[in-house]
Amino acid sequence: MDIVRTPADACRTLATRRGTQSIALVPTMGCLHKGHMELIKTARQQADIVVVSIYVNPLQFGVNEDLDRYPRTFTADADHCEQAGVDMIFHPHTLYADGGPQVSLQVGKLADILCGAHRPGHFDGVATVVNILLNIIRPDLALFGEKDWQQLTIIRHMVHDLHMPVRIIGVPTVREPDGLAMSSRNRYLDAVERKRSVTLSQALHVMARQAASGTRNCRQLLDAGLAVLQAQGITPEYLDIRHADTLQTLNELIPGKPARALVAARIGKARLIDNMPLDLMEAHS
Ligand code: AMP
Repeated sequence: MDIVRTPADACRTLATRRGTQSIALVPTMGCLHKGHMELIKTARQQADIVVVSIYVNPLQFGVNEDLDRYPRTFTADADHCEQAGVDMIFHPHTLYADGGPQVSLQVGKLADILCGAHRPGHFDGVATVVNILLNIIRPDLALFGEKDWQQLTIIRHMVHDLHMPVRIIGVPTVREPDGLAMSSRNRYLDAVERKRSVTLSQALHVMARQAASGTRNCRQLLDAGLAVLQAQGITPEYLDIRHADTLQTLNELIPGKPARALVAARIGKARLIDNMPLDLMEAHS
């Protein structure tokens, strides 16, 4: 496995195989867990060469966010990658000129809602760094987790709107045995907070179950989810039901319109997010 630190080295390392072999990119911020490993496994199945980028991107952190304390575990990450058959880790010191890039991407209305409403500039930073990584690695496919549904949606729109020659693959959320979505930020939770954090997925499950048994009214579904959260004293930053692709608000679940329930909440020092599909009974029959 190659570990490269500069765009020029990444380019050189891939040069001899580019064109004859397919390349998959898995962008990460490191502190790899089973969710990341599932992306890598899927990449391994679908491409000849698997590249994992590990870069804590300052552009996607707000001023009072956790950039400085974000966990950095490169040695362990490299071991996991080696065992998973990764061909190259791209681990740059920085991707930006001093003072930040002169030119960057700006995401439209999709970045003003849900997480974007609470993290101004976050998705501009994500779109910009993913664009840079895609330009450096030039993969045939790039893999992203459904856990960050809004991010996945924005990346899909970016690739479509900017005619970028890459296939985007979404990978289902990997969860702890009790249902908590795996996340590098789960490390911030103490034992009591860890127990409460399962409430997010429980609320989404309740909504999914009610949808599957015929409830179509989104207000009713949201009230059921909110009741689960409030029973544990959790006031979410948002709990919402949106069209899965456009992220437009839905008032009613309608067959043929994919719906997604999405939640974000602070538990102790951690800001946690999760989402699940809401399938009507008809979708299962
Ligand atoms: P991060 O390192 O948190 O920026 O995540 C890197 C990639 O891994 C993103 O595409 C995430 O959506 C994905 N990811 C993170 N957690 C999970 C999870 N529990 N299941 C599936 N994918 C995940």
